[in-house]
Amino acid sequence: MKVAVVRNRDNHGVISRFGQPCPEVYGSRSVQNVIDGLRAGGHTVAFFEGDKRLIANLEQFLPPEGESGRPGGMVFNMSYGIQGDCRYAHVPAMLEMAGVPYTGSTPLGHALALDKVVTKILMREAGAPTPAYRVLSRAGEEAEGLRFPLIVKPRHESTSYGLHFVRDGRELASAVREVVEEYQQDALVEEYIEGREVCVGLLGNDPVELLPLVELDFSGRELRAMTWADKHHKTANEPRRICPAAVSEELAGRLRAAALATFRACRCRDYARVDIRIDPSGEPFVLEINSMASLGAGGAFVLAAKTAGYTFEALVCRIVDVAHQRYFGTAAARGGGAAVEEGAGGWGAGAQESAAAGEAGAIGGVEYAPCPGVFSPQQLRGDDIPPYKATRFYEEQIRRSGHYERLRHVVEPSLAEVGGPGAWDTSGEGEHTVVRGLQHKFGPTALVLATDQCFSHCRFCFRKRLVSQTSEEVACDYGLIAEYIREHAEITDVLLSGGDPLVLSTEQLHRIMDHLLPIGQLTSIRLGTKALTYYPPRFQDTGLADLFRRIALAGKTPAVVAHVDHFGEIGEETERAVRKLLALGVQLFNQMVLLREVNDDADILAATLGKLHSLGVRPYYLFQARPVKGAGHFQVPLRRGIEIVREANGRLSGLQKTYRYVMSHYTGKIEILEVGEDQRLYLRYHQHRDPRKIGLVFSRPYREGACWLDDLAGSSEAPCAAGSVLDGGA
Ligand code: SF4
Repeated sequence: MKVAVVRNRDNHGVISRFGQPCPEVYGSRSVQNVIDGLRAGGHTVAFFEGDKRLIANLEQFLPPEGESGRPGGMVFNMSYGIQGDCRYAHVPAMLEMAGVPYTGSTPLGHALALDKVVTKILMREAGAPTPAYRVLSRAGEEAEGLRFPLIVKPRHESTSYGLHFVRDGRELASAVREVVEEYQQDALVEEYIEGREVCVGLLGNDPVELLPLVELDFSGRELRAMTWADKHHKTANEPRRICPAAVSEELAGRLRAAALATFRACRCRDYARVDIRIDPSGEPFVLEINSMASLGAGGAFVLAAKTAGYTFEALVCRIVDVAHQRYFGTAAARGGGAAVEEGAGGWGAGAQESAAAGEAGAIGGVEYAPCPGVFSPQQLRGDDIPPYKATRFYEEQIRRSGHYERLRHVVEPSLAEVGGPGAWDTSGEGEHTVVRGLQHKFGPTALVLATDQCFSHCRFCFRKRLVSQTSEEVACDYGLIAEYIREHAEITDVLLSGGDPLVLSTEQLHRIMDHLLPIGQLTSIRLGTKALTYYPPRFQDTGLADLFRRIALAGKTPAVVAHVDHFGEIGEETERAVRKLLALGVQLFNQMVLLREVNDDADILAATLGKLHSLGVRPYYLFQARPVKGAGHFQVPLRRGIEIVREANGRLSGLQKTYRYVMSHYTGKIEILEVGEDQRLYLRYHQHRDPRKIGLVFSRPYREGACWLDDLAGSSEAPCAAGSVLDGGA
């Protein structure tokens, strides 16, 4: 199942800073442990900030399932909130509104548990004993009827924030003043219970599993209570946690009963921890309930679960299961992310069924062409071949163009895709991924994998490994991405790629811009897209015009890098969309791939480049096709490629041939120059991670039929059989 871990790392993602800031932050290590545990348990996991962007991000990660409309996964909630009252309740409330299931308590449960006074009232009503208390709202008020010593703490805080131990009226006044002024809330004052302290972990709902008791050993300490410093591991004599606690069966029963009564009275769900003091006569007094018990590795809840036999992985998966059981009546399915977990090359059944089933359908208003039937959907799946997917628009355009016999190879599966050499990731893209969804290979350019979806599937795509998958390579936290870019002043250009970023809604693109446009050093924002040929109606969206205007107003150059491989792909609607973009001041470039049986002909190349130029689209790159698994049949030998380019260029004006014939290789972007009379292939680095190598001409002995640098002897510049591209994608 897909699980989105949601937490709050900072207080940036709000409209304005207003209200009491949340002092609590879930430690990164704990969040990572949860992510790792869920992944190890077979779930597909992404993590998100619990801020104003959350719903838009979840809409992308957890879209509802097909026709059933059933939620596409679940949130594992670790969000303490950002600011204001009842902050634990904020993310659950947003999720309820958006129809997203989540682990843990409801907004009501968290709100009740976070108000310690209301909690005490509910506990008493439920028959759970709790220390006598008063609520004071200013210094100097008397704690009438209470016996010193007393504990003073803020009414709405957890993790022992603002906790004071006071012995007399003077200390009480001082502590109340501090709580009221610093935390801007009433002070809860309660009698201090001298004695032992025990934590009870609760897991599940019906039935609730009561985990082994954990005792806090305060030996050698003057203050026998957990402080903020203890809970954040900042004291030298932090209490030792002993599990199981040495208590009689009779007392253990009373402790569990008090914990369960508190859990139910506070409407908690899935998991929680209840802290209880035991006075010298053996009477328990419930101190509080934590409705989002810490999953920190050293915490009492995790220790109790471990004693009960849960590994950490089993514990976090159990939390998902009990939540799933509550919503749907069954435990959560594992391995829902198998397409990702099994590694590149597997296509998710959902993608196969929606795109390859050979049924014309309409997804998000886009109509798709029926599968031409070269393979059955079962064969496609069995042979690990990407599903067929082509818009009805594209299919009709290429049939109308008179070039169907060539252009059908762009989208229609063929037997040549079965088996054969090649790699799934020819680019080593993972190596250049610096933050999930962000690649940084060449200094000035950062590439964002904004989506794994496309309007159609190109059979030669070098990102087959992620297109139409539920990919974990796709960006999910644009806050982190923006942070990385800011920290790298050399980055001046961001390329949104994928997949095709224009499959995202305009609103989603605006949310991405929320993060990118404030970055002062950026001078341009590029979108790499094949929508101009696969689905030009996308450009009828007036909101998209606003997006480009917004980019320009922010002082960045808006640019679209189109992907036209053959002039037959260009129809009237594409021309209209191009004119519209140009009128908006968008710079337009085109990159194409030299493809056997599609455009490996000087006439076609010259006509395509000439057509693009006439429309005002600048030819940018002609890529040598990469040795992608199942796509080797698209490669044109390098000598033949050079001949085609030379012949086409002989017919083009200088403005029409403002492109370079390049190989996007693992080591850099390499311009393919010539096979010399000495039978050596001459090449030049157009881009390289090491700027000193840019412009460097080098050569290799040519071997007839070679299609890639690694097919040649002496390719020490090419440490692996891989290609690399930063200007690829759509
Ligand atoms: S080449 Fe671009 S448009 Fe085609 S499938 Fe790959 S990412 Fe999508």
